[in-house]
Amino acid sequence: MSGTVFDIRRGVSKDGPGLRTCVFLKGCPLRCVWCHNPESQSAEIERAVTTDEVCGRIMSAGEVMAEVRRDAVFYDSSGGGVTFTGGEPMMQADFLFALASAAHADGIHVAVDTSGFAPWAAFERMLPVVDLFLYDLKCIDSGRHRELTGVENRLVLENLLRLDIAGAKIWIRCPLVPGLNDSDGDLAALKEFVRRLRNMEKLEICPYHQLGIEKYAKFGKPLLYGNRNSASGKDVERWNRIIYCDV
Ligand code: SF4
Repeated sequence: MSGTVFDIRRGVSKDGPGLRTCVFLKGCPLRCVWCHNPESQSAEIERAVTTDEVCGRIMSAGEVMAEVRRDAVFYDSSGGGVTFTGGEPMMQADFLFALASAAHADGIHVAVDTSGFAPWAAFERMLPVVDLFLYDLKCIDSGRHRELTGVENRLVLENLLRLDIAGAKIWIRCPLVPGLNDSDGDLAALKEFVRRLRNMEKLEICPYHQLGIEKYAKFGKPLLYGNRNSASGKDVERWNRIIYCDV
């Protein structure tokens, strides 16, 4: 079993609990206007247009797991593990299942970072081998979701509710972009939706930042959101107040 990987980072202290190795699988069915990993979107191996850099390589599950196992001692001491991310890792569902199954069999904590846009059957198969879903909620209004990401969110919301009913452990992540998906109405709808979840352990706000913006030119992709400012401290303060405090 092999798949297309575009990065493996060790010693990551976010994207789940403890110290983690993050495995980035290439390909994503969404086109979020703020995406800071545009080189992750195509499932194909790509060559940068301004440098010799190549994004993506075919790796076997064994090769990926050999990298993941190198830090097993740190997972044990920190309560960490492996996080499969992307792109959208569920796009390579069979490869992801093989990797998560191998890590699970080794007793390594497995997290999957997902946009939620994949068939339910693919999520259902992952349930026995995934300890934590890092689940993006970008916008509750479906029309607006389509404008911002290229797809409607019905499948995303349905899958989230089904994972919750199935007892999956969930951390919700909200990528918030000033002026795009952070109106009072957007945040109220978000709060209202997550109130329905019984197994959400955490809700994380992920403020928009400009890191990665230069990758658009490097990989010859149009910059959909333009050269906008990163979220300010004031934005983050307002989001925190509305999401965590106001009732
Ligand atoms: S889901 Fe993530 S990887 Fe995919 S386009 Fe959106 S931000 Fe980029």
